Amino acid sequence: MPNPSLPRRHGKRQSPRERIKNFDEVSQGLSKEEALLEADRCLNCKNPKCEAACPVNVKIPAFIELLLKDDLKGAASKIMETSLLPAVCGRVCPQENYCQGACVLKEKFGPVSIGLLERYVASAARKAGLLTPPKPSHETGLKIACIGSGPSSLSCAAELRRAGHAVVIFEALHDYGGVLRYGIPSFRLPRAVITAEVETVKEMGVKFINDTLAGPSLGIEELLKEYDAVYIGSGAGLPTMADIAGENALGVYSANEFLTRVNLMEAYNFPRAATPVRVGKNVIVLGGGNSAMDAARCAARLGPQSVRVVYRRSRNEMPAREEEVENAIEEGVIFDFLTIQKEILTDENGRVKGLKCLKARLGEPDEKGRRKPVIMEGSDFIIPADTIIVAIGQKPNPVIPRSTPALKMTEHGTIAQDENGATSIAGVFCGGDIARGGATVLLAMKDGIASAHRINKYLHGKSKKGK
Ligand code: FAD
Repeated sequence: MPNPSLPRRHGKRQSPRERIKNFDEVSQGLSKEEALLEADRCLNCKNPKCEAACPVNVKIPAFIELLLKDDLKGAASKIMETSLLPAVCGRVCPQENYCQGACVLKEKFGPVSIGLLERYVASAARKAGLLTPPKPSHETGLKIACIGSGPSSLSCAAELRRAGHAVVIFEALHDYGGVLRYGIPSFRLPRAVITAEVETVKEMGVKFINDTLAGPSLGIEELLKEYDAVYIGSGAGLPTMADIAGENALGVYSANEFLTRVNLMEAYNFPRAATPVRVGKNVIVLGGGNSAMDAARCAARLGPQSVRVVYRRSRNEMPAREEEVENAIEEGVIFDFLTIQKEILTDENGRVKGLKCLKARLGEPDEKGRRKPVIMEGSDFIIPADTIIVAIGQKPNPVIPRSTPALKMTEHGTIAQDENGATSIAGVFCGGDIARGGATVLLAMKDGIASAHRINKYLHGKSKKGK
């Protein structure tokens, strides 16, 4: 019999005092004993709301049941029926908004820690050599190119490979994973976890080509001559800047540049790593989303005296995961809520020396229902700073649209799709952040899988025409 009233397991974590000195993973996950106790809390609902709330519909009660039967291989295979990135999702998916948010135990006992269980199954099965990448039953002889190697392209490529197509991923950077690798820090998502899950997709037979920028040097129309279909999963890697005076000063980074230096190029190891990063004594991060939390927590690990997050609304309106805000606070990050950046102040050498700000109060809700900040005139004040990291949003990557005039775009800079998910070029599909604007890992995966099904349908017709 399930035992939902058992205390909810959260797993061990590095203490804030220790973790602020390193880039190792903060959460240590669950031990086998803890995982089994946590799994025992699951009621194995007949109509599992958790599963319906998961964007890729991971068979949650079924994998938990297999775990309880000590069938680790079966549990891992069950998850991998719909998600090939279980160790990634177990760590970074906002479960509180998806599966755990829908768990029937949520109100009375606290939800089952589904993310930690998924992470445990994925890691333990990999360690025991029990993860078997799905293999296609036949080869179709058709070829598809996927652009980008973020979660949307990885999921699309894996799904297409399952269907027996030859798939090639083209990635602009030297390493694979998209935001997982260049944006999300290793203390939330260790690099080895990303590498291992990319490896699963490679083992399925997907070919990866790095350092290749599709669009200007490898046109979409050119790709269509060699490939039967193209999937664009090029993400939302264009930073939004604050558009205030002083933004070109030395010491101002976009979150994108700062996180890429730290996470992809491992600047925290400089000079052992080739790329440096300088933060000085006082760091200010502008923004309230996951990028802002990641930038602030990375900066805090680089040894400054202070890291402040300047956010124009209150804590209630912050888009960042609550858990990440808590982590940042524990690590000493200071929050200036209801504060709006006005101007970046510089010294005689053009270096950042401070941020002029205004205080705000909350006004009426905007179109998304979040209360808008209203500036309090005459409330100007200055926060001293050596570094300012602008983390106020990401826009769709413009490289492919700019080099592909036939590709219709929306007014938001995303690739336009019709009601069937098709783009304006026959044989070209898209998904993830390039189609939605900044979203989540799981929504990107969902798009990748859905597009793979569309491509299968498109190719089915095509092969009938004698291809
Ligand atoms: P991306 O992950 O952006 O991958 C796109 C890839 O395409 C990149 O590798 C890029 O180099 C490559 N590319 C671009 N253009 C070209 C080209 N022309 N040719 C070849 N390759 C190209 N979501 C969560 O669910 N949980 C989180 O905790 C979370 N934290 C985040 C933290 C940060 C700092 C950021 C920025 C985002 C975070 N997100 C989080 C959002 C999530 O990471 C994204 O929604 C998701 O990665 C989008 O996946 P994607 O595959 O569409 O694009």
